[in-house]
Amino acid sequence: MRARVTLVAVAALSVLAAAGCSGDSSPLPGRPSASAPAPTGPAAAVDTSCNPRASLKPTGALPAPGKMPAGTYMAEIFKRGRLVLGTSQDTLLFSSRNPFTGKVEGFDVDMGRQIAQAIFGDPDKIQIKVIGYDKRVSSAVDGSVDIVADTMTANCARWKDVNFSTIYYDAGQKVLVSSASKARSINDLGGKKVCAAKGSTSYDNIAKVPAKPIAVDRPGFGDCLVAFQQNEVDAISTDDTILVGLAAQDPYAKVVGPRFTEEPYGMAMNNDHPEFTRFVNAVLARNRADGTWKATYERWLGDFGAAPQPPVAEYRD
Ligand code: GLU
Repeated sequence: MRARVTLVAVAALSVLAAAGCSGDSSPLPGRPSASAPAPTGPAAAVDTSCNPRASLKPTGALPAPGKMPAGTYMAEIFKRGRLVLGTSQDTLLFSSRNPFTGKVEGFDVDMGRQIAQAIFGDPDKIQIKVIGYDKRVSSAVDGSVDIVADTMTANCARWKDVNFSTIYYDAGQKVLVSSASKARSINDLGGKKVCAAKGSTSYDNIAKVPAKPIAVDRPGFGDCLVAFQQNEVDAISTDDTILVGLAAQDPYAKVVGPRFTEEPYGMAMNNDHPEFTRFVNAVLARNRADGTWKATYERWLGDFGAAPQPPVAEYRD
């Protein structure tokens, strides 16, 4: 289903190159949350039964690449010879297939590559498995991937099934409409069809908006863009990070409104081997401190302005 999005991505690359990521006049993705409008309304209601931002604390010093402690899941991955990363291939800037190289690349892919670097001393020792948005939790649970980095919001419902890393990116939900639309936010889309990927928090959030937009699902956000362009839906609503990539692929689209949710991204892992979550958090801590996170931000999102401070790590034990 997602393969044809490559065609869209080709157009996107030329638009990005020509216009420096034009098409989104809204506040930029990934800007410090201090500058982002606070989420408002019932759609912002969150499950507060846990702190989804808090993960497992790293223990001891990070082992050197190639020296994973015996009996750990990292040692298993090392023995296998590659880290298996679950992600999408149609999320421009985060994880999308580069039509010129055929490789899936972006901020999320680099998060995975940095874990491979820490295990093997080689970021290329990674196998990318393209998974549906609705398969992110189950893929981590059934072990078909070692880790998921896929614009995935850490929330309490998902924490029941998987472990999340500490937060590596703060996004928030907005809406994409036709450039001719008078809508200024999701609140102006009552009775209109608004698309989101199946299995995303975005889909659930649309249904909670008091104005009552009609939530429509598609397998991925690339599919939502096609539905939007074919007038099957009036709008797309998801994380600002994803919308800016979609808007860059359609000169007749714009992103509007304030963020009406908070979407803190974590990498998801099976919770049977917590030592792997601690290891990943140690890598993230080192990369926040040594400038790697900032360099990754600049590589993928630098066109939108200077890198903010990385999200602060929070721990639950
Ligand atoms: N970040 C949200 C989620 O994890 C919405 C977009 C996406 O599916 O990545 O569900």
